[in-house]
Amino acid sequence: MLPFARLTVIGLGLIGSSVARAVKAQMPSVRITGHDADPLVRARAVQLGICDDVTDTAGASVMAADLVILCVPVGAMGAVAADFASDLPADAIVSDVGSCKQSVADALAAVLPNAMIIPAHPVAGTEKSGPDAGFATLFKGRWCILTPPENAPEAAVERLRSFWQRLGADVEIMDARHHDMVLAVTSHLPHLIAYTIVGTADDLEGVTQSEVIKYSAGGFRDFTRIAASDPVMWRDVFLSNKDAVLEMLQRFSEDLSALQRAIRYGKGDELEALFSRTRDIRRSIVEQGQDDDAPDFGRKH
Ligand code: NAP
Repeated sequence: MLPFARLTVIGLGLIGSSVARAVKAQMPSVRITGHDADPLVRARAVQLGICDDVTDTAGASVMAADLVILCVPVGAMGAVAADFASDLPADAIVSDVGSCKQSVADALAAVLPNAMIIPAHPVAGTEKSGPDAGFATLFKGRWCILTPPENAPEAAVERLRSFWQRLGADVEIMDARHHDMVLAVTSHLPHLIAYTIVGTADDLEGVTQSEVIKYSAGGFRDFTRIAASDPVMWRDVFLSNKDAVLEMLQRFSEDLSALQRAIRYGKGDELEALFSRTRDIRRSIVEQGQDDDAPDFGRKH
């Protein structure tokens, strides 16, 4: 038996449209209603046929739902939920896909005090945005982290686990604050570093922008993929996960200073030891199926 029969997806961009597409592919009998604040996105979603219905208001989209998934930037979650609060069926489960969990849990609980809220984060994505960027297999073999509040009914958590497993994800349960700390290291800090490096290269005097682009295969272009990620989404991630990001940034700055010292004083053994350790981490990521082993990310040469 399917865990849900009537899904509402609010926010029909990369992640929302991927959820809708994946549900259509894996659970075709589920009725999908979509809503997005942007009329152009709504029109495109109708054209693409990724939902059974697309409504003009958030309230109208949730009226018959047994699962509502919010796929909007994390800073917009509370406002969207407030918009549909009075139309939400009492037995519906409300979830989301936001990249930070504690701030979203707080924002949703504040405006939906009586709803069953089980936040989630599929750790899957690309640097693209919008309804055309989504695809049905995005969650296959990726982790989806659920961060249920302590009083969440076990049966509801299990239904959501089953939902994400059917989309191909492996599901893990985690405390929201712990999630935010882990993701600050594995996702938020790398994005901040990529945004910085690409920005620094762009600001350099004495090296022209055309040279930066021409010789980017030396490493720079791998950072530009991450630095091309959605500006609004990432603005919200850093503002919402402020404490964990600042703590990780402090650690990173100290490690960077240590590296700076090693270079200044010619401590090659320290550099080599670090670079060997990091190479092992790459190997583990490939071994655990979280990336491909093809050289240079499989680019054609
Ligand atoms: P996206 O492609 O930009 O899609 C977000 C959509 O939500 C846009 O169409 C946006 O419309 C719409 N929206 C914004 N505010 C809204 C509101 N108040 N009511 C209804 N719709 C609204 O972004 P995304 O990459 O799918 O990200 C969505 C969520 O997934 C974020 O919370 C993000 O943290 C999370 N996430 C992203 C990734 C990733 O790799 N991208 C991975 C995991 C989780 P506009 O056109 O008006 O902006």
